[in-house]
Amino acid sequence: MSEEKSPPDALAENEAGAGRIAGPELEIKDAPLIFERVWKQLVQERGLEGMAFPKEIMWLGGAPGSGKGTNTPFILRERGLTAPPIVVSDLLDTPGMRALKDRGQFVGDREVIEALLRKLLEPTYQTGVVVDGFPRTKVQAEALDAALAEAGRRVDLAGYIDVPLEDLVRRMANRRICTANGHVYNLASNPPRVDSICDLDGSPIVQRPDDDEATVRARMQEQIPPLLEVVDHYRTAGVLQTVDGREPISDVSERVLAAIDSPTVVDVPAGSVEPA
Ligand SMILES: [Zn+2]
Repeated sequence: MSEEKSPPDALAENEAGAGRIAGPELEIKDAPLIFERVWKQLVQERGLEGMAFPKEIMWLGGAPGSGKGTNTPFILRERGLTAPPIVVSDLLDTPGMRALKDRGQFVGDREVIEALLRKLLEPTYQTGVVVDGFPRTKVQAEALDAALAEAGRRVDLAGYIDVPLEDLVRRMANRRICTANGHVYNLASNPPRVDSICDLDGSPIVQRPDDDEATVRARMQEQIPPLLEVVDHYRTAGVLQTVDGREPISDVSERVLAAIDSPTVVDVPAGSVEPA
């Protein structure tokens, strides 16, 4: 992996926190209804015995470009988890959902929570899993709460990597992807050794069309306000752990791990789990 060659990404001069961005109100507010329909359908398909969640679920949130994906390999290694992270943006990368996103629309809460729950219930993840990028909206968070409650569970800790908007835009604008395998580079913080060539497979590296600045800003305007409602949701629930994502990557990784590393593991007496 490439995290060793990532120099510090200390971008501190911008003081406008991502928390101050104004945005549109959410339109959909029917979390109980979404939960009920999705849950009923899953139980019908799988039976109650097929509704077991992973023993340990680590929730990692943050805006696009905040560094969630950069930190998950470290977390998995430290936790000894063999299952890959569940990356919610990948889950949504189906043709139908891509068409929605290409039109600049938000994929519906129901589609997102259903995709996430289906994934969580796969046997691969039973030991433990890191969930990267869920929930994205308060409705999703509430539907998730309802689903977990159904299984006698809850979100114990929600990690949030906080990065100011201008830093996010700059990071995304510097992002490059190799054409062969999608290896990710950043011209500022993690450039390839040879200009425009992937270190790992020699293929050309390019900027994805949706990483140009205007598109990035539009995407942030769309995604950050609902995300901040999620942050508030978990803050109110007393389970939010915020990590300053402007620190060097290795520091952020350590802090993210510390932030989300003490969830309740099923079958462990509650008294033996210490809060982070
Ligand atoms: Zn590559």
